[in-house]
Amino acid sequence: MIDVTSNDPLTLNGQCHCGAVKFTAELPLGLASARRCTCSICRMRGAIAVTSTHDGFKIVEGADKLATYRFNTRTAEHHFCIQCGIYTHHKRRSNPNQLGVNVACLDGLSPFDFHEVVVYDGQRHPGDNPTHTTFTAGTLTFTPAS
Ligand SMILES: [Zn+2]
Repeated sequence: MIDVTSNDPLTLNGQCHCGAVKFTAELPLGLASARRCTCSICRMRGAIAVTSTHDGFKIVEGADKLATYRFNTRTAEHHFCIQCGIYTHHKRRSNPNQLGVNVACLDGLSPFDFHEVVVYDGQRHPGDNPTHTTFTAGTLTFTPAS
């Protein structure tokens, strides 16, 4: 099993639920970059995202099957498969040089492999609240049944 707490860089293949969209994601900060977020779209989507970059993310198949959703400042770009609806990745508003990648789409990984995930306070996004400098809301834990 992959060590989800490691910050060693790694590259993983991924795909959406129906398989129409396939990609390769370089994760320069490893799987330890996993986070959730309280903002209006992340709280609804519920996905755990890991950090990639524009250069390190390649759509291998199905670029024409991806749609993009933007709202509010329209800085963030949320991509999803038009066939199965699954969110694959997004350009971050907090750091537009970074992409967030849905860990549930990555080969060999499940969101439930992450037993402790940092939660970002996107609801009080620093971009909307310049005085709000702490971007951490807490930690979510999952304890597997034994
Ligand atoms: Zn799909």
